[in-house]
Amino acid sequence: MAENDQLYIHDGRYYGRILAGDYSPKLKEKIAGYIMSFKTFEDSGAPVIPYIAAWNENEKIIWYEFAGAEFIKLLECNFTEIAEVFRKRIIDRRVYKYLDLDMEIQEEIIPGKELFGWQEGLREESKQTGFVEAVYKVAIKDNNILWLKDRANIETFSKDNICISLGCLTDVTKEMEQKDLLEKIGYIDELTKLPNRKILQRITEINIGQVNRKHLNDFIFSMIDIDHFKLVNDTYGHQAGDYVLANIAEVMTSMKRVEDEIGRYGGEEFYTISHGNIHSGRVLAERLRKKVENTDFIYNGQHIKVTISIGLASAVELEILEAHNLIELADKRLYMAKQSGRNCLVWQG
Ligand code: GH3
Ligand code: MG
Ligand code: MG
Repeated sequence: MAENDQLYIHDGRYYGRILAGDYSPKLKEKIAGYIMSFKTFEDSGAPVIPYIAAWNENEKIIWYEFAGAEFIKLLECNFTEIAEVFRKRIIDRRVYKYLDLDMEIQEEIIPGKELFGWQEGLREESKQTGFVEAVYKVAIKDNNILWLKDRANIETFSKDNICISLGCLTDVTKEMEQKDLLEKIGYIDELTKLPNRKILQRITEINIGQVNRKHLNDFIFSMIDIDHFKLVNDTYGHQAGDYVLANIAEVMTSMKRVEDEIGRYGGEEFYTISHGNIHSGRVLAERLRKKVENTDFIYNGQHIKVTISIGLASAVELEILEAHNLIELADKRLYMAKQSGRNCLVWQG
């Protein structure tokens, strides 16, 4: 096809199948148009990798009609080998879906080895929805890992038995490595789904750094402990205790601003870190205390009531501003709150 000569793709040549194959003029025209647009888009220097993949529904093989030069560079292969090399390099494929109206996100991971068997299903699913959104963990040279987010629209040409995927790959390595790291160090507490104590040190250090550099005037650390929690376990059983812990976490989280951090310190103890001064810290703590006091935790039809005691400390109070000093001061005041009858806050002394 003479007009293909104008389609600079790779080495100035077209390596796809559709334009050179026995397909309808309508499909060929579409593909030629898409290739030109994708090439123009690539030349704009946008920091994404555009591609056009295609598959024949009878042959069950996938090939590329167009792939950004960066894709070929990353995979270190020829244009015609992309599909095969990419498949071999995939460690896993992840899809993130909203589970329900609560916007909880579920991660679905298919290991690369199993992906081959799944491919047909995935293609069928994407054909139905007309859309693909997934993240690929890919092995590249020198044992490096690359995370590529794939977003594509699927178009079906039934007459030709062809589906095409018009997509863009974005490098999300930084973001996914951060997520991986947090999972590896066990950042989230299993029972309450709150950040655990391991991250507390880090958040506190970051805040201390900001105070020292005068980017932040003050911040508040509070230690929260459930009153007579042993009694809850003894009266209703350990499972009821677990239920109360998980639900207190949820209730408290619902009361905080997005910028406040609430975590599980351990056992029946929680912590908060919030920006502001001791006054705003007391407002948050009092809101949490009241909310817990007024909540009925219903487990197997039994109404369980609990209260919390809170010790607060602000960064500006400390002569030597270090994470452990701040935690110790809040802990000391928590003890004072217990001494003075529980279900209350202590922020001085
Ligand atoms: P205080 O008001 O002085 O804090 O009394 P308390 O009973 O809450 O304090 P104590 O430290 O004596 O007991 C804490 C209890 O919390 C004992 C422990 O079994 C319970 N606990 C700690 N972690 C968990 C957990 O993950 N699940 C359940 N169900 N109980 C827990
Ligand atoms: Mg305790
Ligand atoms: Mg307690």
